[in-house]
Amino acid sequence: MLREEGGFYDRDPRDYRLRVALVYPAPYFAAINSLGHQILYFLLNSFDGVMAERFVTDLKGSVESGRSLDEFDLILATIHFEGQYPVLFRMLEGVRKPVVVGGPAVSANPLPISSLAEAIGVGDGEVLVPSLVESLLAGGSLEELADDGFFLPDIMNRAEFKRVRSLKPLENQIIVFRGNEPVNSYLVEISRGCGWGCRFCMLGWHWRPRLDPDPKDLEVAVERAHELGFKGIYVIGSDAASSKLIKDLLQWASEKGLRVTLPSLRADQVDRELIELAVSVGESMLTLAPETGSERMKAVVNKTIDNGEFVRVAEEARDSGMRHLKLYFMVGLPSETDRDVEESGRLASRVAEFVNTKVTVSIFIPKAGTPFETVPLAREEDIKRRISIFRRSFRGQVNAMHYGRAYIQTFMSVGGLEIAKLLRKGVRTPYNRGAYRSLANRMGIDLDSIVYGERDTPWWEYIDTGVSRDFLSRELRRALEGLPTPGCDISCTGCMPKCWLPLRSVS
Ligand code: SF4
Repeated sequence: MLREEGGFYDRDPRDYRLRVALVYPAPYFAAINSLGHQILYFLLNSFDGVMAERFVTDLKGSVESGRSLDEFDLILATIHFEGQYPVLFRMLEGVRKPVVVGGPAVSANPLPISSLAEAIGVGDGEVLVPSLVESLLAGGSLEELADDGFFLPDIMNRAEFKRVRSLKPLENQIIVFRGNEPVNSYLVEISRGCGWGCRFCMLGWHWRPRLDPDPKDLEVAVERAHELGFKGIYVIGSDAASSKLIKDLLQWASEKGLRVTLPSLRADQVDRELIELAVSVGESMLTLAPETGSERMKAVVNKTIDNGEFVRVAEEARDSGMRHLKLYFMVGLPSETDRDVEESGRLASRVAEFVNTKVTVSIFIPKAGTPFETVPLAREEDIKRRISIFRRSFRGQVNAMHYGRAYIQTFMSVGGLEIAKLLRKGVRTPYNRGAYRSLANRMGIDLDSIVYGERDTPWWEYIDTGVSRDFLSRELRRALEGLPTPGCDISCTGCMPKCWLPLRSVS
């Protein structure tokens, strides 16, 4: 089955000067649904003299040939979120080859993974990988990449965040058939980054401002999906609904008979026409993320979408034949009270009057390089009480995050070099809070002080995101005063001294 997926097979490694093991710390199907992983796979294999094969958690050896990691010259791993760190440590246990890691979480704070990698790429792989490959093919070493967006733990340099300036859809993609039917969708990135400035959001502060593709390229991508035999499109973009192209995309997909799956959308950017178009391409569920139903908290987190917008979308969804709605809320936000959470539950109940509503309640986790990077994780008793309050205010289906996971993700997200030592030593440690705590105690590491205490922000020494640190401090102050800040599309507030949107005026 795998040989028909459109990957690179039947090659003799001796014909290549650089053999790269492209590692994704998740099962095969998660890897093919990762656009970043697929982009790097096709990009690496486009270089003369480079052979890249993929490694995932549920296949022994590489996907293409079953070769082992040690048979490659370089290991290149992509990581999406902190929970994948221990999986990657386990996959690479005992491997004696140079390791380079990239992806959103490590771009924000590379320190916790620094005991695993010789180099950590900061920003977009499409910019970072060509410098890496060209340097290695020319006989250079990883140390030479310090000025090209790589953080090198051996020299502890400061790396500049690298971003692409134009967004090109990935033309060729892996397609997996079961019988005659493809089981995965063609991945279409409708936008990258976001300029709204939600104060908790890591992607929104590292990938700003938002970047949009050329409409012509997007239309060609839809045609390509059809030509390759895909039956559906999976739209990717953290601010998809703000894209001027979203309706065109749905229209083009409809003309080609392709189903479309949409990401989470901003309710205030969703109108009746968009919902009807989504229904016409087989989408049966809209996903919205109010985060909170409390007007006060909306200003604190800088996501000031009126509750009425969610109710309106629910009503229009029902009237358009959309059967389900999924809502994402958060608890444990800075300055949050029980009453704020009650209001969130009430908002979910109002929405559920119109359409079948599923709710996910996650726990706020501080992220490096955001205005909330120094905010502590809320205490367990507060989180448990607030989740119960939410469940009492909303009687429908609620899927709530486990507190232990939030604790682990917090120290991996905002920890420093001590977490790198912990992860290295704890490569066989079960993924639970108790196990990590007792190992940390034995090593003299105080995890509670990282998770709950006044926090250092060592990543600022090593990562230059382009956003000024003073701006983030000002955003935290404004959050605690309950003051929102407008997003890029409304008014530029000068968050980046060297923003590459030159036409923006600083208000
Ligand atoms: S400098 Fe202005 S346009 Fe650029 S990301 Fe910041 S707010 Fe947006």
